Amino acid sequence: MSRAIYPGSFDPVTYGHLDIIRRSSAMFDEVIVGVLNNSAKNPLFRTEEREQMLVEVTEELANVSVISFDGLLVDFMREQDVAVIIRGLRAVTDFEYELQIAQSNRKVSRETVDTVFLTTSIEYAYLSSSIVREYARYGTDVSDFVPPYVAQKLKERFSL
Ligand code: ADP
Repeated sequence: MSRAIYPGSFDPVTYGHLDIIRRSSAMFDEVIVGVLNNSAKNPLFRTEEREQMLVEVTEELANVSVISFDGLLVDFMREQDVAVIIRGLRAVTDFEYELQIAQSNRKVSRETVDTVFLTTSIEYAYLSSSIVREYARYGTDVSDFVPPYVAQKLKERFSL
């Protein structure tokens, strides 16, 4: 069975992420969306909230599961018995960082993991979680960027 993990912060999940999840769920038998519990990043949404939003918006994709993890990705992958990482590439500016991460993950896993890159669909090329957070903070409509469930969560967060 082919299995892959799509790791990220997903703070919050956007239509760009969802596009990558959908496309990879058609390529692999099973896809795990790995939500990074990264205390250093000071996220807008807690890990459980980010995880719950992902569960909600991937509900109709039967072979997709959502799991949060701490620490090193390669350790989590060993635990889950997965050898393929999926990452999305938006622009050339993503490339250098992603290359470095992919190569170091391969090195520290002793050549047992590989990274597969999917290029963003053109309509989402500009989209990032940080852009969504910024617009939502000022009350701008973000319904073109995130599913309705996530837009509602953003509204609640910023109206407090
Ligand atoms: P990280 O903090 O690890 O970069 P993100 O949640 O920002 O996590 O992104 C997770 C993955 O999704 C990364 O591979 C990123 O390049 C990809 N991604 C983010 N936004 C888009 C988008 N609009 N289109 C395609 N891929 C995207």
